[in-house]
Amino acid sequence: MFKKILKLVGGVLLILIAVQTYNTLRYAPQKTAIAAIEMPAVNENDVANRLGEAIRMQTISTATDMGERGPQFQQFVDWLVTTYPNANAAMTRVMVGGLTPVYRWQGSDPALKPILLTAHYDVVPVAESGVDSWPHGPFSGAVAEGFVWGRGALDDKSAVVAIMEAIEDLSKSGFTPKRTVYLSFGHDEEIGGQDGAASAVAYFKDNNIRMAWSLDEGSMILKDVIGGLETPVASINVAEKGYVSLDIIARAEGGHSSLPPRDTAVSTLAKAVVNLQSAPVPGGLNGVSREFFEGLGPHFSLVKRVLFANMWLYRPVLEMVLSGSPATDAMMRTTKAPTMLVGSAKDNVLPQEAIATVNFRIHPRDSIQSVIDHTRKMIDNPAIEIKVRDGFGNEPSAVSDKDGAGFKALSTTFQQVFGDLIVVPGLTVAATDSVHYSQVSDDSYRINPFVFTGEDIKRLHGRNERISVEGMGQAVQFYSALIRNSAG
Ligand SMILES: [Zn+2]
Repeated sequence: MFKKILKLVGGVLLILIAVQTYNTLRYAPQKTAIAAIEMPAVNENDVANRLGEAIRMQTISTATDMGERGPQFQQFVDWLVTTYPNANAAMTRVMVGGLTPVYRWQGSDPALKPILLTAHYDVVPVAESGVDSWPHGPFSGAVAEGFVWGRGALDDKSAVVAIMEAIEDLSKSGFTPKRTVYLSFGHDEEIGGQDGAASAVAYFKDNNIRMAWSLDEGSMILKDVIGGLETPVASINVAEKGYVSLDIIARAEGGHSSLPPRDTAVSTLAKAVVNLQSAPVPGGLNGVSREFFEGLGPHFSLVKRVLFANMWLYRPVLEMVLSGSPATDAMMRTTKAPTMLVGSAKDNVLPQEAIATVNFRIHPRDSIQSVIDHTRKMIDNPAIEIKVRDGFGNEPSAVSDKDGAGFKALSTTFQQVFGDLIVVPGLTVAATDSVHYSQVSDDSYRINPFVFTGEDIKRLHGRNERISVEGMGQAVQFYSALIRNSAG
């Protein structure tokens, strides 16, 4: 009897090993032939100097000066006209929301649905305390040590400049698009895009203009960012997380703190927050999250490849490992972060109300309502009120087609310009203007053609923001090739 069981177990193990080996061998990087495209000669030093000029105009968005824009914004918009005469002659332009230019480059074939290339030219402020540590001033636009320095070098004036440079060169060379190309350069992305991108979308809707696809920031080419991968990764993000903050409110009788009840509003609230944080929002490797990791999987070393190739068996193990780091955990689920607390205004007064604010970034599989339901269930106290803070939230975006024409054009262009890289569909975990643009686009993709290392990611909204001169040259080639691939 024992021998029989041993034989059976041995047989099952052998089959398991055979299946896993087969899956792993089949799970190799796919090489598809990419047609070559002629790259325009780009004078990257001239491009870098022009980006420097763009950076010197201090188009800063702060939450307090909404609607009160400095003259530097108008100056930037005018600068686009004088700096790119051929592009401006080839296209028509309307201003929306006051300071957001929307360009149209008319295509010769009206049967083709237009595409939209976007970027924003406002930047975040620079922390006063850190200014001295910049080797070149944050608005110097200095070109030095092979880099262009300053706010907007990565986020996102570099994209505005690269798009305009590409169109300037293309129009000068006599290229005319078959497919209409729209451009929109938002002036308030950093504070939600309610004037800029939202007005552009209203303009498109009013004129019955719908895009085959749109391209905005939201990701980049990641080099040495994902452990175990030497090849850079172009994560073309096909979706964007939603956003909501919930106020969790505990109430109690007020009074003097010398005669307190067993629980005050603060301690009741504290228990609620602890309960809420006792388990993450359910998530895991399915949908866009799974496609992202499955796309990377074949490029990992053998052990990891065995795990990813046999997701049917190792999914729980992988999910456990990936949820160990905030970056990969955020790819798999809705995240929650308690960020604010309010109690009594005085130390010896019992609070009648205590409020905790929790910020959620909503995965495309969830919704604002499902987040509220999750919160209510976790807190498990009907006396506690849960309400959407400021009555404001963004649902997560739809998930765009990773097999669509736009994704294919982007994927091809990345490989033509940057050579060997891994292209995967990804998820933007923060919020961008695509919240707006996706309303008028069949598919929305989110990535800038810049190579980022882990160190560069810290420079975003941080200190020493810079882009390499070479990287700017490549970005111009990218947009040029993209327009020719998709509208030529
Ligand atoms: Zn940005």
